[in-house]
Amino acid sequence: MKDAKKLTFVAIQMGADAAQIEAQLKGFGLWPHPQMGAAGHLGFAIEPHSMPIDPQKLQSIAGIADVFWAPSAHPLVDAQADRAFEDWSPKQNFLLIAGPCCVESPEQIGRSAQMAARAGASWLRGGAFKPRTSPYAFKGYGATALDWLRSAADAHHLKAVTELVAAEDAALVAEKADAIQIGARNMQNYALLKAAGETHRPLLLKRGMSASLEDWLLAGEHALLAGAEAVIFCERGIAGLGQNTRNLLDLATVALLKRELGQPVIVDPSHAVGRRDLIPCMAEAACVAGADGVMVEIHPEPGKALSDGSQALDAAGLQAVAEGLKRVWGRAH
Ligand code: PEP
Ligand code: MN
Repeated sequence: MKDAKKLTFVAIQMGADAAQIEAQLKGFGLWPHPQMGAAGHLGFAIEPHSMPIDPQKLQSIAGIADVFWAPSAHPLVDAQADRAFEDWSPKQNFLLIAGPCCVESPEQIGRSAQMAARAGASWLRGGAFKPRTSPYAFKGYGATALDWLRSAADAHHLKAVTELVAAEDAALVAEKADAIQIGARNMQNYALLKAAGETHRPLLLKRGMSASLEDWLLAGEHALLAGAEAVIFCERGIAGLGQNTRNLLDLATVALLKRELGQPVIVDPSHAVGRRDLIPCMAEAACVAGADGVMVEIHPEPGKALSDGSQALDAAGLQAVAEGLKRVWGRAH
């Protein structure tokens, strides 16, 4: 990938003095990161922005068995390429995730779950903890809403995904949801990525509004290194000129992520465009670009939504998305 920096690995001999090797690597101006395996200390990963590396110099250190290079700075992301994620990249069907921006009441999330299930969605989304650009905006009903989300998902045989905004809530969110969403505003919140990864749940990693593809992949690497079962990349629009749509939907990067890197990738056209009339065509375009699925915001009564009402689809709008996706799925995959 363009601009990718290679990650260097040094393997150490069994029984070698890891602390001494680490000190010597640091003495060369390098920044080694210990790699542990079941059998103990395996070696070090050397971060790509360290000093230039002379492999001969490395090999001359007593106790080093081998020096090799990962083809990119995100080997764990690369390793999940083309892996079959039954729940996320179904080969037979396009993945549909639907639900309200925010979980507002048991009734609202229950009706949303029913709409989602009827339209063929397999996942229910809904925010319990909401990151809001304005500190005065509604921030969600928190832990209570997690219970409402779980019950609604179970009642309609759906899986549930919800956003984590604070590391201290990671265990709670992982207990109530099948996957953890990391929002655009937090894509580079590395402490949060670590806390989310440590739950071992799959993460739905939204792209930051001004993140490059490499920034996004490296955020995924943080989560996988911390233990995330998988990272599903979610394009939701990047900062654009701000005149016509809420954000600028970068479908070319979705195509690259899928075609060149084989990553699981979904598209959230709702936050990308911010207006419901453009969502069906952007969902189809996402499918044609190679996305494994789409995530859309819905509401049983969009006019009453506590957040993001202008982009919420009603039952008919959701049905239009589902039908459009069925139309293009066969041609695109
Ligand atoms: C959301 O999905 O509810 C959300 C807040 O999205 P984003 O992080 O993409 O803005
Ligand atoms: Mn929203």
